[in-house]
Amino acid sequence: MANMKEVVIIGDGFAAAVLVTHLLRRGISSSAITVVGSGVLGKGNAYGCNNPFFRLNVREDLPIIFADDPLHFSRWAKKHINDPEARTKAGYFYRRQDFGRYVSELVACEFKLGQIEQIKARVLGLIGSDNSWNLEFDGHDPISARRVIIATGNPPPVWPCSLINSNPAISTVSLIENPWTGDSLGGIQTQESIILLGGGLTALDAIGALAERKHLGMIYVVSPRAVLPPAQANWQRKAQPQWPQNLSPAKLIRFMRNYLPSASTASPEWQSAWEELRPNINTIWQQFSSSQKRSLYKRLGWLWNLYRFRASPQTIAAYEKLKSKNQIQFVLGRAKEIKYTESKVKLLLGNGIEIEGNRVINCTGTASDPLLNRLVEDQLAIRDPLGQSIAVDENFRVLTLSSKRWNSLWMIGPGTMGSLGDVIAASTIAKQAEQLAIQISLDSLKNIR
Ligand SMILES: Cc1cc2nc3c(=O)[nH]c(=O)nc-3n(C[C@H](O)[C@H](O)[C@H](O)COP(=O)(O)OP(=O)(O)OC[C@H]3O[C@@H](n4cnc5c(N)ncnc54)[C@H](O)[C@@H]3O)c2cc1C
Repeated sequence: MANMKEVVIIGDGFAAAVLVTHLLRRGISSSAITVVGSGVLGKGNAYGCNNPFFRLNVREDLPIIFADDPLHFSRWAKKHINDPEARTKAGYFYRRQDFGRYVSELVACEFKLGQIEQIKARVLGLIGSDNSWNLEFDGHDPISARRVIIATGNPPPVWPCSLINSNPAISTVSLIENPWTGDSLGGIQTQESIILLGGGLTALDAIGALAERKHLGMIYVVSPRAVLPPAQANWQRKAQPQWPQNLSPAKLIRFMRNYLPSASTASPEWQSAWEELRPNINTIWQQFSSSQKRSLYKRLGWLWNLYRFRASPQTIAAYEKLKSKNQIQFVLGRAKEIKYTESKVKLLLGNGIEIEGNRVINCTGTASDPLLNRLVEDQLAIRDPLGQSIAVDENFRVLTLSSKRWNSLWMIGPGTMGSLGDVIAASTIAKQAEQLAIQISLDSLKNIR
């Protein structure tokens, strides 16, 4: 078929850039690769931010892009980042925007990115079958591809409740729907009272940025629990857990509970044990049935997310500073409705509590991915066991009805979590990209090198 692309990567963020790097390293020609996405390759939702106070939540030796050179980023950072604030007792925690620069420079400098085609558009849908896919875009003519990799990442947050504008003639400066870019936080006045919807890492990012800007107003954290993720400690893996055979979810929980020390969850001792458990979790997760995965996630998902998503020590120190000045108040509940004017917001919670402030920042986490939803509607993919994304097999192949899998449609990145386990951190996604690049280069692309 004329103008058939060989490998199309949907998404232009971290996973896409690392996959391009590994494909090129394995001899796939740059002319065989097309990337789709409107941003700078490598930056994406996490590392394309403009806020200097948003930091990586892992120390410098952990974002591993190359399995055979784990300290590649660490070395690059020492040479190319001027950030005296990065150093802490738990390691160096660099700015996310500097990591974004690293990832895009990695591809641009080492591998001559100029030769890779990038279509600056969004993919709306995909039709076809193995080795013949047609991609539909907003604002671009359709293209055909032999192999497609979905790397669309975490869809940015959307409001979790209804919004009522008290005066439709005014603009919506009091509402920040997507704080990930960090742009909108710059316009906040120091005296404002701020309502944060959600109590995870995005809320901590917002708190960290407000503290650095010497915020003086109140910050209300609206969440079902009055707890925020802890700081990264200076942990080391010293031992390997001896996992029992034939684990059920109940046995898994019992084993983990016994393995973890009674020390504080913020201590290096506790986090070291926790990190010793993590490398085996994905294999164990993949052995569970869909209903076991669902019930385990329902029971323990929030706790898992709390201790897995730790924040940088700088962010936690900023939070502690505001807390000591009584500027942080938790409000327990879930948002039901937001009424707003240009400079005032009234938030109503499901339990009847009302809070007033000058601005509300949506820190509720990822939304659902319209492209993945469309693939399910079009019966090209099935939902994953958690119902949040689409299902893939252990080789990242997208599953379709009756457990069939496509041989030329893959997905990598956070969307694979429900199928494969703990796959959010940069290093785990980089490992997926490396494994997929090996697979593609060995199995199917010998003819296009
Ligand atoms: C705010 C935030 C901070 C994070 N911080 C850390 C951290 O400090 N350390 C860590 O290890 N992990 C962190 N993560 C986890 C993160 O999941 C990974 O590190 C990684 O960035 C995910 O890469 P990705 O390529 O899958 O997604 P992204 O890098 O977000 O890239 C996806 C890209 O695809 C584009 N896209 C989406 N849909 C389409 C479509 N239909 N057509 C075309 N393009 C599309 C998006 O616009 C985006 O640019 C963070 C995540 C977020 C959201």
